[in-house]
Amino acid sequence: MPEHKPDTLGVRAGALRSDFQEHSEALALTTSFVFRNAAEAARRFANEEPGNIYSRFTNPTVTMFQKRLAALEGAEACVATATGMAAVATMALGLLKTGDHLIAARGVFGTVVPLFDQILARLGIATTWVDLSDLDAWKRAVRRETRLLFLETPSNPVCEVADIAALAAIAKGAGAVLAIDNCMCSPALQRPIEFGADLVIHSATKYLDGQGRVLAGAIAGRADLVSGPLYQFVRTAGPAISPFNAWICLKGMETLRLRMQAQSQSALALARWLESHPGVERVLYPGLDSHPQHALAMRQQSAGGAVLSFVARGGREAAWRVIDAVKMISITANFGDVKSTVCHPATTTHGRIPAAEREASGIVEGLVRLAVGLEHPDDIRADLERGLKA
Ligand SMILES: *Cc1c(COP(=O)(O)O)cnc(C)c1O
Repeated sequence: MPEHKPDTLGVRAGALRSDFQEHSEALALTTSFVFRNAAEAARRFANEEPGNIYSRFTNPTVTMFQKRLAALEGAEACVATATGMAAVATMALGLLKTGDHLIAARGVFGTVVPLFDQILARLGIATTWVDLSDLDAWKRAVRRETRLLFLETPSNPVCEVADIAALAAIAKGAGAVLAIDNCMCSPALQRPIEFGADLVIHSATKYLDGQGRVLAGAIAGRADLVSGPLYQFVRTAGPAISPFNAWICLKGMETLRLRMQAQSQSALALARWLESHPGVERVLYPGLDSHPQHALAMRQQSAGGAVLSFVARGGREAAWRVIDAVKMISITANFGDVKSTVCHPATTTHGRIPAAEREASGIVEGLVRLAVGLEHPDDIRADLERGLKA
């Protein structure tokens, strides 16, 4: 239903009904599907007629999830995976072969680094790491063998923003695919395909579920890639999503726009308050006028998003004091939940990166990452104030 507005797509797109005419989307928790006769089974397996066969590669609940996400991203097609990392691995292994080269932004989700530097490297696929917003570095890194450009925008936890249209032009010139991890914004705030991205990667574990219940992932984008090699990879290698997890995310997407708008609004209010707080050195949030890429961010995103970081005055000691003083906000490395979470990236998610490299990428000892949930912003502020005042 491309003629509908995004709010409508989130609630309605992709919905299918069984013969029961159920109103709420059904959970088809079944491994396989029954054929009326041998000839029907043969036609399904020969791809001569559409229909469900086996839930590793055809399941109606998974299909609904894929169609709804494709509609929200403005994508031609979508394939779901078991986790966000399974989506990244499917993208790489489904598209690349020995001898190929890819370029990735430093500061992508941490687990991507060993996937590229160890597993892909072992297969003879080389990665060049570049700074997210340094367009000349992306251009210089292009080789004849370059097949893929991969990044996240805004980045986590320092909220750096990439110019998607400029990177799409570089990818096009190189004959490579541009893939954007859209976890931080979700399609409610940013649709990378509109700016020229070929693929959008999701950890649906984050805002698509939105309530921290299940792991899930997806790749949306060009049909020649998604319905071709990427779907074939999921079907044959098997990193498929559970129908239950797809159902959770399908229902989560019904409130995605409302959640993202409300959580972004609270994040902006908190970012402004933190920026004026004497205990805070600096706030990193694309929605703030003071963000060095604010104008670019607001061209690509309809709001700043729900994740912000700030540098507490006084280094690690000050950062830990803020975290240890919270009574309501959860101390956890996850984000994307309706419950606010806080963490200290330098000693958790980014603790294994050598200190000099970590500091150079902006993940300093005083940095605190806050993922803003749906609690009242006054309560979140009061919870943070306690440690900042101390
Ligand atoms: C969490 C996350 C992933 C990995 O997703 P899983 O579902 O945990 O496998 C990938 N990219 C980003 C940006 C993430 O935040």
